[in-house]
Amino acid sequence: MEIVIIGNHCAGVTAAETLRKLDKSCRITVISREDTPPYSRCLVNYIISGKKKIDDILFRPVDFYKTNSINTIFGVEATNIYPESKEILLNTQVKIKYDKLLVATGASPVLSGVEGENKDGVFVLRTMEDALKIRKYSENVATAVVLGGGLVGIKAVTALFELGKKVKLIVSSSGILSQNLDADEAEIAENYLISNGIDIIKRTSVSKILGSEKVEGVKTSTGEIIDCQMVIVGKGVEVNKSLIGETGIEAGQGIIVDDHCRTSVPDIYAAGDVVQSADNVRKSAWINALWPFAAEEGRVAAENMLGKDSVLRQRTSMNSLNLLGLPVITCGLTGMREKITDAEKVTIKGKDKTTMKRFVFKGNKIVGFVLIGDIRDAGVLNTIVRKEIDISGAKDSILSGRFDFASMLPVFMDNCEKFNDDTEKEFKQIFKTYKNK
Ligand SMILES: Cc1cc2nc3c(=O)[nH]c(=O)nc-3n(C[C@H](O)[C@H](O)[C@H](O)COP(=O)(O)OP(=O)(O)OC[C@H]3O[C@@H](n4cnc5c(N)ncnc54)[C@H](O)[C@@H]3O)c2cc1C
Repeated sequence: MEIVIIGNHCAGVTAAETLRKLDKSCRITVISREDTPPYSRCLVNYIISGKKKIDDILFRPVDFYKTNSINTIFGVEATNIYPESKEILLNTQVKIKYDKLLVATGASPVLSGVEGENKDGVFVLRTMEDALKIRKYSENVATAVVLGGGLVGIKAVTALFELGKKVKLIVSSSGILSQNLDADEAEIAENYLISNGIDIIKRTSVSKILGSEKVEGVKTSTGEIIDCQMVIVGKGVEVNKSLIGETGIEAGQGIIVDDHCRTSVPDIYAAGDVVQSADNVRKSAWINALWPFAAEEGRVAAENMLGKDSVLRQRTSMNSLNLLGLPVITCGLTGMREKITDAEKVTIKGKDKTTMKRFVFKGNKIVGFVLIGDIRDAGVLNTIVRKEIDISGAKDSILSGRFDFASMLPVFMDNCEKFNDDTEKEFKQIFKTYKNK
């Protein structure tokens, strides 16, 4: 069987690895625009700060493809898919045949359209190449401006700061991480960054990037001129789905897949940041652009290509960020990107000024949470949220913070029928055994 994978990152590599583990004879070809060994995108900020070298961020060895007999076509782009003839077209005009195809093309950053974005010293942050270029250019940079207070913007801020640069973060919203944190939570995170020396300018955008050929400053929407030698645009991404063109593959913001990672066209699967897949807390197909999701989707797609009946686990988004030492984790519905009807929000402030927890309850379930400073309970809480566990008997203990996996055992035992994934069968057996005692 001829299996073609477009995309050589988390979803694509996990799929290729799974295929080879399960089938020694199928022919696997991985096609990728980037010509790099498998590196972790989540760690590219450490290349900027210098905390890690390229070898440190590889998640599979350089000889991964050779060892697994995987054919690679790197440094090229797949431009079209022809489902009827089961072929894809590359930008080199070469056509490649497939029996099964996986689209794992992820997403790409977008510039914001501000005048002057074409000057030397303006960067986005997505690839290892971006990170290496930023690090090299920053040798002659004293002050950097970062546009956008989301995950990528914050990672750029902390990396440049750790490299010893003066960093100014400009956000158009009223606070950083505005898709996840409410005003009080954002204030804690902002104050922490400010106390470390980061400048944060809120409710402001950049109207022009100044300089002749190189960046020399930015002009803000309030007319202020800020001197800087580098601008990182960390504001938005777009899903790489243009290659599906006229194929009839159903898509919204991302390619729509079912719980087997099948698209609407036979023998074409999709996985990773390019897809909209089930989020059982949101109750809708959602783009959860996260590494663990991409890995799971890559595995599930591969298993199904080989005829298994593999389904995605119950899941919801969980974002984790380290703000120069202050950990922040958000999970499920936090009420910032969505209106949650009949929700009860409970905030617990810690004794110091850097600790806060917020739980979003809907009936007897937790549908989302935010942890700042103290993130010890994130794993247990994530299980409770994504498995939609009825916590009526444990709400007080959750709110008091006196809980961990052991104290939640009675609740898990009552819900043991929800632990059905392959990896959870042992838990289920333990919960059942204790329940029957
Ligand atoms: C700076 C940064 C930090 C992050 N930190 C975290 C984190 O801490 N935790 C977390 O869970 N997630 C994090 N993420 C998100 C995580 O990296 C992604 O969810 C993950 O990389 C998705 O993997 P993927 O394989 O779906 O797609 P991608 O990683 O986007 O890879 C897609 C691949 O497809 C290739 N490609 C695209 N189009 C074509 C085409 N037409 N032809 C050929 N090849 C093509 C691309 O070159 C690329 O190699 C971070 C992302 C960034 C940018």
